Amino acid sequence: MSFTLDIHHRKQALLKLLNSVQLHEEAIIKALYDDFKKPAFESVFSETSFILAELNHTITNIHKWAKPQRVLPSLLNFPSTDYIYKEPYGKVLIIAPWNYPYQLVLSPMIAAIAAGNQVVVKPSELTPNTSRIIAKIISETFDKNHVDCIEGGVEVTQQLLAQRWDYIFFTGSVTVGKIVAKAAAENLTPVTLELGGKNPCIVAENANLKLAAKRIVWGKFLNAGQTCIAPDYILAHQKIKRTFIDYLKAEITTAYVENPEASPDFARIINAKNWKRLVTLLENETIVFGGNSNASDCYLSPTIIDEPNLESPVMHEEIFGPILPVVSFETEADLQRIISKYEKPLSLYVFSDDTQFAKKIIQNFSFGGGCINDTVVHFANKRLPFGGVGHSGIGAYHGKFAFATFSHHKPVVKKGNWLDLPFRYAPYQGKIKLIKNVLKWFS
Ligand code: NAD
Repeated sequence: MSFTLDIHHRKQALLKLLNSVQLHEEAIIKALYDDFKKPAFESVFSETSFILAELNHTITNIHKWAKPQRVLPSLLNFPSTDYIYKEPYGKVLIIAPWNYPYQLVLSPMIAAIAAGNQVVVKPSELTPNTSRIIAKIISETFDKNHVDCIEGGVEVTQQLLAQRWDYIFFTGSVTVGKIVAKAAAENLTPVTLELGGKNPCIVAENANLKLAAKRIVWGKFLNAGQTCIAPDYILAHQKIKRTFIDYLKAEITTAYVENPEASPDFARIINAKNWKRLVTLLENETIVFGGNSNASDCYLSPTIIDEPNLESPVMHEEIFGPILPVVSFETEADLQRIISKYEKPLSLYVFSDDTQFAKKIIQNFSFGGGCINDTVVHFANKRLPFGGVGHSGIGAYHGKFAFATFSHHKPVVKKGNWLDLPFRYAPYQGKIKLIKNVLKWFS
């Protein structure tokens, strides 16, 4: 029997991890700053405190989540007691991206350990300082045979993918997600794919414009726009678009003052390649705010583009940076036409004081998750599943959903021997009417 099956052992491992991440919190924050000048506040808010909360929640609930769940039996099986056992898959591979490089390794790792798996994590090579501290935490806390961290780039990931796993959990781009899915298919390995997309953010004419601008500016420019659930582009009602752009400008200036390059609260683009990609997206666009850049520091200021052509590069790909295009709409048909140009997004946001309108939007479009009158914050509730749909991902996690993701749900019927109803056994002659009635009334 694998040592990971013992719930007490799993809980002890998580408690040890809790101690270690608390001990290294400052080092993690420093590593995130060294990697791309991630502001300390954002590191605490979206990385270290998030992980502490997820760990505490999992430690508190592990016994409840792990124990076999008794369900009502079918009368057809009378007499029986029926259970769902939560079985660990076995060997789990977790591959993470660079944009939340600590949290996106540890959050699935915590759930995979809680569910009783052996785990190998592969942090992103683009955030080497964070990768190093993750490797240190893991080697100090776990036996290699239980949890291991393998650092490295694309070739290392490819070598890992060539091995046989019982579950693969991948967070990253759609392109690499397809590579992972193909590799997993070789061994029929189940996968969770946490991917990206082009997230629309609708601002209706009756929205609270000032508050909407404040919440959008926060969600968009957090992590310098390098957030998978950041609003990608705004769809503003044409009657309020001009006014709304003014509100956006004012909120950006309040948050990051006149020169965001000097602000300690604004992160950098991860590397020169992505910086170049983003700066190129600005070519031939109408920049109404920002657009300042500095190659030597991979800096790009919060930038607003007015009315980009829907066929232009900025409206083709996921932006993943501090560029906010504002597109106007007039009718619901316009929204339908524009949003459905793209694959199903990871998030959708709608700002409106009209609850019926907001509900209609939520129901009419398919997307991973989202908010009415806010951005990004659905991520913070561990009682909500987090994941994409269609090209933005397969599967979901956080809290009990993460425990379920890393567990095979094994149904078992425990049959009583004191009674053995005869109707299902051969010879069947003369029993058809009886079985029809039994199935009708008791299934
Ligand atoms: P990426 O897909 O380039 O890299 C992710 C991981 O895959 C890295 O560990 C990398 O080593 C590996 N990798 C890269 N190329 C590979 C290849 N050819 N073969 C095998 N492995 C390879 O993603 P990224 O640039 O690190 O992250 C940005 C993307 O991640 C964005 O699209 C964003 O939307 C998405 N993302 C999604 C979520 C989510 O929760 N859904 C969260 C964060 C980021």
